[in-house]
Amino acid sequence: MTNQLLATTENANNQNSQYTSLNDPEIANVVAHINEEHLDELLGFLSVFTSLSTAELDHVDAQITDIYAEGITIQTRQKNSKYQPANAQDNSLHDQSFFINFATPISQFDDLQAQYILLKQRADKKLGKKTIKLTKQVFDVQNSYNVSKNMLRLELSMPSLNSDTPLNNTAKLSNTKGATISTSVPTNEAGYAYLFDLEHNAMTNALMTDSIDANKADDNAVNDSEKNNVRPARPHCYYTLRKAWHTDDGIRAWVDVFLHGDTPGGNWAAALKTGETVVTKREFPEKVEHLRDGQAVLIVDETSMPTAARLLELWSNPTPPLVICVTQDADDQSYFDTVKMRSSLDSISYDNSNISIDNKIDCDTETHGNDHFTILPIVTNQANSGSDLATLIDSTLGDYLTDNPLQIDKVWGALEANTTKALRPLLRERLELSRTDVVVKVYWRHD
Ligand SMILES: Cc1cc2nc3c(=O)[nH]c(=O)nc-3n(C[C@H](O)[C@H](O)[C@H](O)COP(=O)(O)OP(=O)(O)OC[C@H]3O[C@@H](n4cnc5c(N)ncnc54)[C@H](O)[C@@H]3O)c2cc1C
Repeated sequence: MTNQLLATTENANNQNSQYTSLNDPEIANVVAHINEEHLDELLGFLSVFTSLSTAELDHVDAQITDIYAEGITIQTRQKNSKYQPANAQDNSLHDQSFFINFATPISQFDDLQAQYILLKQRADKKLGKKTIKLTKQVFDVQNSYNVSKNMLRLELSMPSLNSDTPLNNTAKLSNTKGATISTSVPTNEAGYAYLFDLEHNAMTNALMTDSIDANKADDNAVNDSEKNNVRPARPHCYYTLRKAWHTDDGIRAWVDVFLHGDTPGGNWAAALKTGETVVTKREFPEKVEHLRDGQAVLIVDETSMPTAARLLELWSNPTPPLVICVTQDADDQSYFDTVKMRSSLDSISYDNSNISIDNKIDCDTETHGNDHFTILPIVTNQANSGSDLATLIDSTLGDYLTDNPLQIDKVWGALEANTTKALRPLLRERLELSRTDVVVKVYWRHD
Protein backbone atom coordinates (compact mmCIF):
# COMPACT_ATOMS: atom_id res chain seq x y z
CA MET A 1 0.00 0.00 0.00
CA THR A 2 2.77 2.41 0.93
CA ASN A 3 4.36 1.94 -2.49
CA GLN A 4 1.26 3.32 -4.08
CA LEU A 5 1.90 6.53 -2.22
CA LEU A 6 5.40 7.00 -3.54
CA ALA A 7 5.60 10.24 -5.41
CA THR A 8 6.95 10.71 -8.89
CA THR A 9 8.56 13.95 -9.93
CA GLU A 10 7.08 15.03 -13.20
CA ASN A 11 6.81 17.98 -15.45
CA ALA A 12 3.39 19.50 -14.80
CA ASN A 13 2.50 19.53 -18.50
CA ASN A 14 3.16 15.82 -18.91
CA GLN A 15 0.85 15.02 -16.01
CA ASN A 16 -2.18 16.34 -17.81
CA SER A 17 -1.96 13.57 -20.39
CA GLN A 18 -0.98 10.89 -17.87
CA TYR A 19 -3.78 11.21 -15.35
CA THR A 20 -7.56 11.24 -15.50
CA SER A 21 -9.16 14.66 -15.15
CA LEU A 22 -12.10 15.06 -12.82
CA ASN A 23 -14.58 17.18 -14.68
CA ASP A 24 -16.27 18.65 -11.67
CA PRO A 25 -16.67 22.42 -11.23
CA GLU A 26 -16.14 22.01 -7.47
CA ILE A 27 -12.51 20.96 -7.96
CA ALA A 28 -11.35 24.57 -8.45
CA ASN A 29 -12.93 25.54 -5.09
CA VAL A 30 -11.32 22.60 -3.32
CA VAL A 31 -7.91 23.47 -4.79
CA ALA A 32 -8.30 27.12 -3.73
CA HIS A 33 -9.41 26.11 -0.23
CA ILE A 34 -6.53 23.69 0.32
CA ASN A 35 -4.01 26.22 -0.97
CA GLU A 36 -5.39 28.91 1.29
CA GLU A 37 -5.88 26.91 4.48
CA HIS A 38 -3.80 23.76 4.37
CA LEU A 39 -0.28 24.64 3.28
CA ASP A 40 1.17 22.76 6.25
CA GLU A 41 -0.56 19.57 5.05
CA LEU A 42 0.90 19.93 1.57
CA LEU A 43 4.38 20.39 3.01
CA GLY A 44 3.73 17.29 5.13
CA PHE A 45 2.81 15.31 1.99
CA LEU A 46 6.00 16.48 0.27
CA SER A 47 8.05 15.56 3.31
CA VAL A 48 6.64 12.05 3.58
CA PHE A 49 5.86 11.05 0.00
CA THR A 50 8.81 12.64 -1.86
CA SER A 51 12.55 12.64 -1.38
CA LEU A 52 12.63 16.36 -0.51
CA SER A 53 14.60 16.96 2.67
CA THR A 54 13.38 18.99 5.65
CA ALA A 55 16.03 21.61 4.83
CA GLU A 56 14.72 21.91 1.27
CA LEU A 57 11.14 22.09 2.48
CA ASP A 58 12.07 24.90 4.85
CA HIS A 59 12.73 27.09 1.82
CA VAL A 60 9.65 26.40 -0.25
CA ASP A 61 5.96 27.09 -0.38
CA ALA A 62 3.67 24.51 -1.92
CA GLN A 63 0.45 24.68 -3.90
CA ILE A 64 -1.87 22.07 -5.29
CA THR A 65 -2.12 22.72 -9.02
CA ASP A 66 -4.65 20.03 -9.89
CA ILE A 67 -6.56 17.06 -8.57
CA TYR A 68 -6.92 13.97 -10.75
CA ALA A 69 -8.68 10.66 -10.21
CA GLU A 70 -5.31 9.10 -9.34
CA GLY A 71 -3.93 11.79 -7.05
CA ILE A 72 -2.83 15.40 -6.66
CA THR A 73 -0.08 17.53 -8.20
CA ILE A 74 1.80 19.77 -5.82
CA GLN A 75 4.07 22.49 -7.08
CA THR A 76 6.86 23.95 -4.98
CA ARG A 77 7.83 27.58 -5.10
CA GLN A 78 10.78 29.36 -3.58
CA LYS A 79 9.65 31.15 -0.44
CA ASN A 80 9.57 34.86 -1.02
CA SER A 81 10.05 35.99 2.53
CA LYS A 82 12.08 38.96 3.59
CA TYR A 83 12.74 37.23 6.92
CA GLN A 84 14.49 34.33 5.22
CA PRO A 85 18.20 33.89 5.94
CA ALA A 86 20.47 35.14 3.13
CA ASN A 87 22.05 31.74 2.52
CA ALA A 88 18.69 30.16 1.72
CA GLN A 89 18.63 31.36 -1.86
CA ASP A 90 18.47 27.98 -3.57
CA ASN A 91 16.36 28.19 -6.69
CA SER A 92 16.54 24.49 -7.57
CA LEU A 93 13.08 23.81 -6.09
CA HIS A 94 11.43 26.67 -7.88
CA ASP A 95 8.38 25.51 -9.83
CA GLN A 96 8.95 21.77 -9.47
CA SER A 97 5.90 19.53 -9.63
CA PHE A 98 5.30 16.39 -7.64
CA PHE A 99 2.53 13.85 -8.09
CA ILE A 100 1.14 12.21 -4.96
CA ASN A 101 -0.96 9.11 -5.61
CA PHE A 102 -4.18 8.41 -3.74
CA ALA A 103 -4.28 4.96 -2.14
CA THR A 104 -7.24 4.21 -4.42
CA PRO A 105 -8.12 6.23 -7.53
CA ILE A 106 -11.41 8.04 -7.15
CA SER A 107 -14.25 7.75 -9.63
CA GLN A 108 -16.37 10.67 -8.43
CA PHE A 109 -15.92 13.96 -6.63
CA ASP A 110 -17.66 12.65 -3.50
CA ASP A 111 -14.80 10.18 -2.92
CA LEU A 112 -12.16 12.92 -2.89
CA GLN A 113 -12.50 13.87 0.76
CA ALA A 114 -11.96 10.30 1.96
CA GLN A 115 -8.83 9.85 -0.18
CA TYR A 116 -7.43 13.23 0.86
CA ILE A 117 -8.02 12.40 4.53
CA LEU A 118 -6.28 9.05 4.01
CA LEU A 119 -3.24 10.85 2.61
CA LYS A 120 -3.27 13.18 5.59
CA GLN A 121 -3.60 10.34 8.08
CA ARG A 122 -0.66 8.49 6.48
CA ALA A 123 1.50 11.59 6.35
CA ASP A 124 0.70 12.60 9.94
CA LYS A 125 1.41 9.07 11.17
CA LYS A 126 4.84 9.08 9.52
CA LEU A 127 5.55 12.53 10.90
CA GLY A 128 4.46 11.43 14.39
CA LYS A 129 1.64 13.99 14.43
CA LYS A 130 -1.88 13.66 15.78
CA THR A 131 -4.33 13.39 12.95
CA ILE A 132 -7.95 13.61 11.84
CA LYS A 133 -10.18 10.64 12.70
CA LEU A 134 -13.32 9.49 10.94
CA THR A 135 -14.85 7.86 14.00
CA LYS A 136 -18.41 7.85 15.15
CA GLN A 137 -18.85 8.70 18.83
CA VAL A 138 -22.03 8.88 20.83
CA PHE A 139 -22.47 11.17 23.84
CA ASP A 140 -25.46 11.47 26.18
CA VAL A 141 -26.75 14.95 26.94
CA GLN A 142 -26.69 15.57 30.70
CA ASN A 143 -27.50 19.24 30.88
CA SER A 144 -27.29 22.58 29.11
CA TYR A 145 -27.03 26.12 30.46
CA ASN A 146 -25.67 29.50 29.52
CA VAL A 147 -22.14 30.35 30.64
CA SER A 148 -22.26 33.87 29.22
CA LYS A 149 -25.04 35.84 27.54
CA ASN A 150 -24.92 33.98 24.22
CA MET A 151 -22.79 30.95 25.00
CA LEU A 152 -24.66 27.73 25.70
CA ARG A 153 -22.76 24.97 27.46
CA LEU A 154 -23.70 21.39 26.61
CA GLU A 155 -22.72 19.00 29.34
CA LEU A 156 -22.22 15.58 27.80
CA SER A 157 -21.26 12.19 29.11
CA MET A 158 -19.82 8.97 27.77
CA PRO A 159 -21.10 5.70 29.22
CA SER A 160 -19.30 4.09 32.15
CA LEU A 161 -15.94 2.46 31.75
CA ASN A 162 -15.68 -1.32 31.76
CA SER A 163 -14.04 -2.38 35.00
CA ASP A 164 -11.16 -4.13 33.19
CA THR A 165 -10.12 -1.16 31.12
CA PRO A 166 -7.41 1.28 32.14
CA LEU A 167 -8.45 4.79 33.08
CA ASN A 168 -6.71 6.56 30.27
CA ASN A 169 -7.80 8.59 27.31
CA THR A 170 -8.57 5.59 25.17
CA ALA A 171 -10.91 3.08 26.62
CA LYS A 172 -13.51 0.50 25.82
CA LEU A 173 -16.85 1.71 27.01
CA SER A 174 -20.18 0.00 27.33
CA ASN A 175 -23.25 2.03 26.56
CA THR A 176 -26.55 1.91 28.37
CA LYS A 177 -27.75 -0.96 26.17
CA GLY A 178 -24.68 -3.03 27.09
CA ALA A 179 -22.99 -2.79 23.69
CA THR A 180 -19.26 -2.18 23.76
CA ILE A 181 -17.76 0.57 21.68
CA SER A 182 -14.18 1.68 21.41
CA THR A 183 -13.77 5.32 22.14
CA SER A 184 -11.34 7.98 23.11
CA VAL A 185 -11.96 11.43 24.49
CA PRO A 186 -8.88 13.60 24.93
CA THR A 187 -8.81 15.07 28.41
CA ASN A 188 -5.57 16.97 27.95
CA GLU A 189 -5.92 18.67 24.58
CA ALA A 190 -7.01 22.18 23.76
CA GLY A 191 -9.10 22.83 20.67
CA TYR A 192 -9.95 19.21 19.91
CA ALA A 193 -12.91 19.54 17.54
CA TYR A 194 -15.81 17.23 16.77
CA LEU A 195 -18.04 17.30 13.73
CA PHE A 196 -21.51 16.94 15.26
CA ASP A 197 -24.17 15.17 13.24
CA LEU A 198 -27.14 17.57 13.35
CA GLU A 199 -29.22 15.21 11.21
CA HIS A 200 -29.04 12.51 13.89
CA ASN A 201 -31.21 14.55 16.25
CA ALA A 202 -33.53 15.87 13.54
CA MET A 203 -34.17 12.31 12.37
CA THR A 204 -34.54 10.95 15.91
CA ASN A 205 -37.09 13.65 16.68
CA ALA A 206 -38.96 12.93 13.42
CA LEU A 207 -39.04 9.22 14.22
CA MET A 208 -40.33 9.94 17.71
CA THR A 209 -43.08 12.12 16.27
CA ASP A 210 -43.73 9.44 13.67
CA SER A 211 -44.16 6.74 16.27
CA ILE A 212 -46.38 8.88 18.50
CA ASP A 213 -48.52 9.82 15.51
CA ALA A 214 -48.59 6.21 14.33
CA ASN A 215 -49.96 5.20 17.72
CA LYS A 216 -52.72 7.74 17.34
CA ALA A 217 -53.66 6.99 13.75
CA ASP A 218 -51.59 5.17 11.14
CA ASP A 219 -52.87 7.41 8.38
CA ASN A 220 -51.25 10.45 9.94
CA ALA A 221 -47.76 8.94 10.31
CA VAL A 222 -44.81 10.95 9.00
CA ASN A 223 -43.86 9.65 5.57
CA ASP A 224 -40.42 9.62 3.93
CA SER A 225 -40.83 12.86 2.06
CA GLU A 226 -41.92 14.59 5.27
CA LYS A 227 -38.80 13.23 6.93
CA ASN A 228 -36.72 14.85 4.21
CA ASN A 229 -38.29 18.13 5.24
CA VAL A 230 -36.96 17.77 8.78
CA ARG A 231 -33.34 17.61 7.57
CA PRO A 232 -31.56 20.65 9.04
CA ALA A 233 -30.18 23.27 6.65
CA ARG A 234 -26.72 21.96 7.42
CA PRO A 235 -26.10 18.28 8.14
CA HIS A 236 -23.21 18.79 10.53
CA CYS A 237 -21.27 21.43 12.40
CA TYR A 238 -17.90 21.66 14.13
CA TYR A 239 -17.76 22.39 17.83
CA THR A 240 -14.78 22.18 20.15
CA LEU A 241 -14.41 19.94 23.14
CA ARG A 242 -14.16 22.72 25.71
CA LYS A 243 -13.03 20.29 28.38
CA ALA A 244 -13.32 16.58 29.21
CA TRP A 245 -12.59 14.75 32.42
CA HIS A 246 -13.02 11.34 34.02
CA THR A 247 -15.71 10.74 36.60
CA ASP A 248 -16.58 7.64 38.63
CA ASP A 249 -19.08 6.56 36.01
CA GLY A 250 -17.31 7.52 32.79
CA ILE A 251 -16.31 10.66 31.00
CA ARG A 252 -17.88 14.11 31.22
CA ALA A 253 -17.39 16.77 28.59
CA TRP A 254 -18.34 20.36 27.93
CA VAL A 255 -19.08 21.76 24.49
CA ASP A 256 -19.78 25.50 24.31
CA VAL A 257 -21.99 26.66 21.46
CA PHE A 258 -22.27 30.32 20.52
CA LEU A 259 -25.92 31.15 19.81
CA HIS A 260 -26.17 33.87 17.19
CA GLY A 261 -29.75 33.84 16.02
CA ASP A 262 -31.89 31.37 14.15
CA THR A 263 -29.19 29.08 12.71
CA PRO A 264 -28.99 25.29 12.30
CA GLY A 265 -26.11 24.78 14.77
CA GLY A 266 -27.55 27.03 17.45
CA ASN A 267 -31.08 25.65 17.05
CA TRP A 268 -29.73 22.11 17.31
CA ALA A 269 -27.85 22.90 20.52
CA ALA A 270 -30.67 24.89 22.10
CA ALA A 271 -33.21 22.13 21.45
CA LEU A 272 -31.15 19.32 23.03
CA LYS A 273 -32.72 17.77 26.12
CA THR A 274 -31.30 15.71 28.96
CA GLY A 275 -31.20 12.04 28.00
CA GLU A 276 -30.90 12.62 24.25
CA THR A 277 -27.84 11.41 22.42
CA VAL A 278 -25.57 13.47 20.21
CA VAL A 279 -23.41 11.86 17.57
CA THR A 280 -20.07 12.98 16.19
CA LYS A 281 -18.66 11.68 12.93
CA ARG A 282 -15.24 13.24 12.56
CA GLU A 283 -12.70 14.70 14.96
CA PHE A 284 -9.38 16.44 14.73
CA PRO A 285 -6.75 18.04 16.92
CA GLU A 286 -6.01 21.77 16.81
CA LYS A 287 -2.65 23.10 15.71
CA VAL A 288 -1.24 24.54 18.93
CA GLU A 289 2.14 22.82 19.39
CA HIS A 290 4.00 26.02 18.51
CA LEU A 291 2.66 27.66 21.70
CA ARG A 292 4.92 25.62 23.99
CA ASP A 293 7.41 28.46 24.37
CA GLY A 294 7.82 32.15 23.71
CA GLN A 295 5.46 35.06 24.22
CA ALA A 296 2.17 34.09 22.63
CA VAL A 297 -0.88 36.06 21.63
CA LEU A 298 -4.22 34.27 21.26
CA ILE A 299 -6.84 35.96 19.08
CA VAL A 300 -10.38 34.70 19.47
CA ASP A 301 -14.01 35.45 18.72
CA GLU A 302 -16.98 33.66 20.30
CA THR A 303 -16.39 30.48 18.30
CA SER A 304 -12.78 30.08 19.42
CA MET A 305 -13.15 31.23 23.04
CA PRO A 306 -13.61 27.56 24.09
CA THR A 307 -10.27 26.61 22.52
CA ALA A 308 -8.50 29.54 24.18
CA ALA A 309 -10.08 28.74 27.56
CA ARG A 310 -8.78 25.17 27.45
CA LEU A 311 -5.40 26.35 26.19
CA LEU A 312 -5.14 28.57 29.26
CA GLU A 313 -6.19 25.79 31.62
CA LEU A 314 -3.53 23.51 30.14
CA TRP A 315 -0.90 26.24 29.62
CA SER A 316 2.59 24.79 30.03
CA ASN A 317 4.57 27.61 28.46
CA PRO A 318 6.36 29.55 31.25
CA THR A 319 5.27 32.85 29.71
CA PRO A 320 1.56 33.66 30.02
CA PRO A 321 -0.17 34.72 26.82
CA LEU A 322 -1.92 37.88 25.78
CA VAL A 323 -5.50 37.12 24.72
CA ILE A 324 -7.34 39.34 22.26
CA CYS A 325 -11.01 38.52 22.74
CA VAL A 326 -13.45 39.89 20.17
CA THR A 327 -17.14 39.62 20.93
CA GLN A 328 -20.19 41.17 19.40
CA ASP A 329 -21.82 41.57 22.80
CA ALA A 330 -19.96 43.01 25.81
CA ASP A 331 -21.70 40.49 28.05
CA ASP A 332 -19.91 37.57 26.38
CA GLN A 333 -16.52 38.88 27.57
CA SER A 334 -17.37 37.37 30.97
CA TYR A 335 -16.75 33.93 29.42
CA PHE A 336 -13.14 34.13 30.62
CA ASP A 337 -14.01 35.26 34.17
CA THR A 338 -13.92 31.74 35.56
CA VAL A 339 -11.03 30.45 33.45
CA LYS A 340 -7.84 29.90 35.40
CA MET A 341 -4.46 29.38 33.90
CA ARG A 342 -2.85 26.14 34.99
CA SER A 343 -0.11 27.93 36.89
CA SER A 344 -2.09 30.90 38.07
CA LEU A 345 -2.77 31.43 41.76
CA ASP A 346 -5.83 33.52 41.34
CA SER A 347 -8.01 34.56 38.46
CA ILE A 348 -7.48 37.49 36.20
CA SER A 349 -9.27 40.75 36.52
CA TYR A 350 -9.55 43.02 33.56
CA ASP A 351 -11.26 46.13 32.44
CA ASN A 352 -14.04 45.18 30.10
CA SER A 353 -14.05 48.51 28.27
CA ASN A 354 -15.53 48.70 24.83
CA ILE A 355 -13.48 49.25 21.77
CA SER A 356 -15.92 50.18 19.07
CA ILE A 357 -15.30 49.07 15.51
CA ASP A 358 -14.28 52.63 14.62
CA ASN A 359 -11.90 52.59 17.57
CA LYS A 360 -13.44 55.62 19.30
CA ILE A 361 -13.29 54.18 22.80
CA ASP A 362 -9.96 53.16 24.12
CA CYS A 363 -9.26 49.91 25.88
CA ASP A 364 -7.69 49.92 29.30
CA THR A 365 -6.00 46.67 30.11
CA GLU A 366 -4.00 45.82 33.15
CA THR A 367 -0.87 43.77 32.88
CA HIS A 368 -0.59 41.14 35.57
CA GLY A 369 2.23 39.20 37.12
CA ASN A 370 3.68 36.12 35.50
CA ASP A 371 0.92 33.79 36.65
CA HIS A 372 -1.76 35.69 34.80
CA PHE A 373 -2.87 36.08 31.29
CA THR A 374 -3.91 39.46 30.00
CA ILE A 375 -7.10 40.01 28.07
CA LEU A 376 -7.51 42.75 25.52
CA PRO A 377 -11.27 42.90 25.02
CA ILE A 378 -12.74 44.16 21.76
CA VAL A 379 -16.50 44.60 21.60
CA THR A 380 -17.82 45.30 18.13
CA ASN A 381 -21.62 45.35 18.49
CA GLN A 382 -21.84 43.52 15.18
CA ALA A 383 -21.06 40.07 13.79
CA ASN A 384 -17.30 39.58 13.90
CA SER A 385 -16.42 39.14 10.28
CA GLY A 386 -14.66 40.81 7.37
CA SER A 387 -11.36 42.54 6.76
CA ASP A 388 -12.25 45.66 8.81
CA LEU A 389 -12.15 43.50 11.90
CA ALA A 390 -8.65 42.31 10.94
CA THR A 391 -7.50 45.94 10.74
CA LEU A 392 -9.07 46.65 14.14
CA ILE A 393 -7.42 43.63 15.75
CA ASP A 394 -4.06 44.51 14.24
CA SER A 395 -4.21 48.15 15.33
CA THR A 396 -5.42 47.22 18.82
CA LEU A 397 -2.47 44.88 19.18
CA GLY A 398 -0.16 47.59 17.78
CA ASP A 399 -1.43 50.13 20.35
CA TYR A 400 -1.03 47.63 23.15
CA LEU A 401 2.54 46.82 22.13
CA THR A 402 3.41 50.52 21.96
CA ASP A 403 2.33 50.91 25.60
CA ASN A 404 3.67 47.51 26.71
CA PRO A 405 6.77 46.70 24.67
CA LEU A 406 6.71 42.93 24.24
CA GLN A 407 8.32 40.70 21.66
CA ILE A 408 5.51 38.46 20.41
CA ASP A 409 6.92 35.11 19.24
CA LYS A 410 3.82 33.05 18.52
CA VAL A 411 0.24 33.61 17.47
CA TRP A 412 -2.77 31.31 17.59
CA GLY A 413 -6.20 32.46 16.58
CA ALA A 414 -9.42 31.31 14.95
CA LEU A 415 -11.90 33.68 13.36
CA GLU A 416 -14.21 34.24 10.39
CA ALA A 417 -12.75 33.40 6.96
CA ASN A 418 -12.36 36.94 5.56
CA THR A 419 -11.04 38.27 8.85
CA THR A 420 -8.51 35.46 8.99
CA LYS A 421 -7.39 35.99 5.41
CA ALA A 422 -6.81 39.70 6.00
CA LEU A 423 -5.27 39.29 9.46
CA ARG A 424 -2.53 36.75 8.68
CA PRO A 425 -0.37 39.06 6.52
CA LEU A 426 -0.96 42.02 8.86
CA LEU A 427 0.31 40.05 11.83
CA ARG A 428 3.27 38.55 9.97
CA GLU A 429 4.26 42.04 8.91
CA ARG A 430 3.75 43.68 12.30
CA LEU A 431 5.36 40.94 14.37
CA GLU A 432 7.98 39.90 11.79
CA LEU A 433 7.06 36.26 12.22
CA SER A 434 7.13 33.30 9.87
CA ARG A 435 4.01 31.52 8.70
CA THR A 436 4.62 28.60 11.08
CA ASP A 437 4.56 30.94 14.08
CA VAL A 438 1.36 32.69 13.02
CA VAL A 439 -1.44 30.11 13.07
CA VAL A 440 -4.80 31.81 12.48
CA LYS A 441 -7.53 29.36 11.54
CA VAL A 442 -10.89 29.75 9.84
CA TYR A 443 -13.64 28.62 12.26
CA TRP A 444 -16.62 29.99 10.32
CA ARG A 445 -17.68 31.74 7.13
CA HIS A 446 -19.94 34.78 6.88
CA ASP A 447 -22.66 34.31 4.26
C1 LIG B 1 -12.53 23.43 14.24
C2 LIG B 1 -13.72 24.27 14.61
C3 LIG B 1 -14.13 24.39 15.93
C4 LIG B 1 -15.23 25.16 16.26
N1 LIG B 1 -15.61 25.26 17.57
C5 LIG B 1 -16.70 25.98 17.91
C6 LIG B 1 -17.16 26.06 19.27
O1 LIG B 1 -16.60 25.42 20.16
N2 LIG B 1 -18.24 26.81 19.53
C7 LIG B 1 -18.91 27.51 18.56
O2 LIG B 1 -19.90 28.19 18.87
N3 LIG B 1 -18.50 27.47 17.28
C8 LIG B 1 -17.43 26.71 16.92
N4 LIG B 1 -17.03 26.63 15.63
C9 LIG B 1 -17.71 27.46 14.65
C10 LIG B 1 -18.99 26.87 14.15
O3 LIG B 1 -18.77 25.59 13.57
C11 LIG B 1 -19.55 27.85 13.09
O4 LIG B 1 -19.79 29.12 13.66
C12 LIG B 1 -20.78 27.38 12.42
O5 LIG B 1 -20.91 28.12 11.23
C13 LIG B 1 -22.04 27.60 13.25
O6 LIG B 1 -23.13 27.05 12.52
P1 LIG B 1 -24.54 27.74 12.53
O7 LIG B 1 -25.50 26.71 12.08
O8 LIG B 1 -24.75 28.40 13.85
O9 LIG B 1 -24.43 28.88 11.43
P2 LIG B 1 -24.22 28.70 9.84
O10 LIG B 1 -25.18 27.73 9.27
O11 LIG B 1 -22.77 28.46 9.54
O12 LIG B 1 -24.55 30.16 9.34
C14 LIG B 1 -25.83 30.74 9.45
C15 LIG B 1 -25.66 32.24 9.50
O13 LIG B 1 -24.99 32.60 10.69
C16 LIG B 1 -23.80 33.32 10.37
N5 LIG B 1 -22.78 32.88 11.33
C17 LIG B 1 -22.20 31.66 11.40
N6 LIG B 1 -21.33 31.63 12.44
C18 LIG B 1 -21.38 32.87 13.00
C19 LIG B 1 -20.74 33.47 14.10
N7 LIG B 1 -19.85 32.83 14.84
N8 LIG B 1 -21.02 34.76 14.41
C20 LIG B 1 -21.93 35.44 13.68
N9 LIG B 1 -22.59 34.94 12.62
C21 LIG B 1 -22.31 33.67 12.30
C22 LIG B 1 -23.47 32.97 8.94
O14 LIG B 1 -22.77 34.01 8.29
C23 LIG B 1 -24.83 32.78 8.35
O15 LIG B 1 -25.37 34.02 7.95
C24 LIG B 1 -15.94 25.85 15.25
C25 LIG B 1 -15.54 25.72 13.92
C26 LIG B 1 -14.44 24.95 13.60
C27 LIG B 1 -14.03 24.82 12.15
